[in-house]
Amino acid sequence: MKQNIIAIDGPAGVGKSTVARRLARRLGLIYIDTGAMYRTVALAADRAKIGEFTDETMAPLMSKIRISFTDDSRVLLHGEDVAQYIRSARITDLSSKVSAVPVVREGLVALQRKLGAKGGIVMEGRDIGTVVFPDAGCKIFLTASPEERAKRRRDQLISMGKEADYDEILRDMKIRDERDRTRKTGPLIQAEDAHLIVTDGYTIDDTIAEIVKIYKASK
Ligand code: C5P
Repeated sequence: MKQNIIAIDGPAGVGKSTVARRLARRLGLIYIDTGAMYRTVALAADRAKIGEFTDETMAPLMSKIRISFTDDSRVLLHGEDVAQYIRSARITDLSSKVSAVPVVREGLVALQRKLGAKGGIVMEGRDIGTVVFPDAGCKIFLTASPEERAKRRRDQLISMGKEADYDEILRDMKIRDERDRTRKTGPLIQAEDAHLIVTDGYTIDDTIAEIVKIYKASK
C-alpha cells in the first residue's frame, strides 16, 4: 500500500480538478491532473493533423511526445505552456477520443507512474485507483448527477468569461462519459476499495473535508 498517494477518479465535471488541487495544497502534496495529459496529447494530435485515432496513427506521436508540469501544475508540451489551449470544446472532445487508444494510455500511464513513484501526490483522472496506482492508500470515487455536473461546468465556464450553453454541455458530457465508461482500456469505473462520494448538494469545501477525513483514517 502506498500510504501517501491519494487517487481521485470520477466522471467529467464533478469538480475533481478543483478538489484535488486544493486538497493537495492543504496536505502539502503534489497535484497531478491526468486529464490535462490526455488533453495535451489531443492538442498535439490535432496540430499534427491526425484525423483518425488508432494505435498505428498515434504510435509515432507517442514515441516523441514530451509532456511535463511546472511547479504550479501547469502542463507543458515540449516545454510550451499549453494550458490555455487544452480546455476548448474541440480539444475536450478529441481528448476523450485519443484516450481510448491503447498506445496513448500505455504511454501516459507509464509517465503517471513515474511522476508518482516517490509518492506525496494527489492524482486525479478516470483510472488512477484501478490502473495507475491500484495500491494507492487512499482511493476516492467522486460523482454527481449529470445535471449537477453540467450546471457546475457551465458556472465554471461563465466565471472564466467564456460562453456556456447548459443543454450543449449536458449533451457533450453524457457522450464523453459514455465513451469513458465503455472503452476497453482503462475505462471509468469505481475501484472496489474506493470510497464513493456523491457530491450533489456538496460545496467544494464539504468534499475536501470528507476526503481529508478518509485520508487520515487510512494512515
Ligand atoms: O478530466 P478531464 O475532463 O480533463 O479529462 C479529459 C479526457 O481525458 C476525459 O474525457 C477522458 O476521456 C480522458 N482521461 C482518461 N483517463 C484519465 C484522465 C482523463 O481517459 N486518467
